[in-house]
Amino acid sequence: MRCAFFVRFPEVHTVKKYTAPLVMLAIFETVAVTLWLTKNNIFYLFNFSYIGCSIALGMFLYIRKYKYARRVVQLLVGLYMLIYLGLICRENMQIEGFWYYLFTGVFEAATIHYAVAKIFGPLVFGRGWCGYACWTAMVLDFLPYKVPQQPRKKLGWIRYITFAMSLVFVAALFLAHVGNMERIMFWAFIIGNVLYYAVGIILAYAFKDNRAFCKYICPITVFLKPMSYFALMRIQCDKEKCISCGKCKRVCPMNVDVTDNSRKRENGTECILCMECRNHCPKGAL
Ligand code: SF4
Ligand code: SF4
Ligand code: SF4
Repeated sequence: MRCAFFVRFPEVHTVKKYTAPLVMLAIFETVAVTLWLTKNNIFYLFNFSYIGCSIALGMFLYIRKYKYARRVVQLLVGLYMLIYLGLICRENMQIEGFWYYLFTGVFEAATIHYAVAKIFGPLVFGRGWCGYACWTAMVLDFLPYKVPQQPRKKLGWIRYITFAMSLVFVAALFLAHVGNMERIMFWAFIIGNVLYYAVGIILAYAFKDNRAFCKYICPITVFLKPMSYFALMRIQCDKEKCISCGKCKRVCPMNVDVTDNSRKRENGTECILCMECRNHCPKGAL
């Protein structure tokens, strides 16, 4: 006879399965609480808790094999940054905003955002920002060329020009002692985003590649690429299982040679952790 008070505890492997989203949530909550208490500003608690919950939800959905898990995170975080932080709170979260707050010596939203997502964070999660949070790529990923239709071009040098232009623009405003900088930064955010979307969409169609803007133009990659070279989180290939079918490279939006486990692998610092290679590998080698 079965005991009436029999309790079924969750099986250990079920708990283990969801360790990654729980750890991610714990990391973001630690950042949220630390910044809230040290900066005495509850906004940080809300901000990092929201982002942590969004990412953890995406990881949970991915584990549950939901096809659009990454897109859900991208929309939750990207729209929050663009509409709430950018348009409603009037924080310039683009690179010009980073320079602006850096020059004023204010360690606030944009500088913290860059430090966490784009400068030091990539040492842990590589270019996860580009795969799961960027509001520019959030739109570009809706375009039809999810897999590049043409070979990669040698145009990556353009990113250094756009990077320098953003720095010179903000430095010039400071040197000229221009007034009402907050207002200028807000409009720089609006105009900058419109330009990014316009150039990104035109390039995607011209090169038949949704991520052409990311590969050749985006100034933020000047921070992201060197830091993500050392990333702890990387896609690794199990050589014992791999049959060299080449499918992973064919579906990769960033042209990464993911079968090479070395840090110097072709386009290794371009990996956005989108998991397309892993989803398509017929041998489960990734
Ligand atoms: S490369 Fe730039 S535009 Fe592309 S996803 Fe990363 S931050 Fe966004
Ligand atoms: S898809 Fe899988 S099996 Fe094919 S080359 Fe890539 S890692 Fe190897
Ligand atoms: S397909 Fe794989 S190697 Fe390419 S960007 Fe996505 S996760 Fe990285």
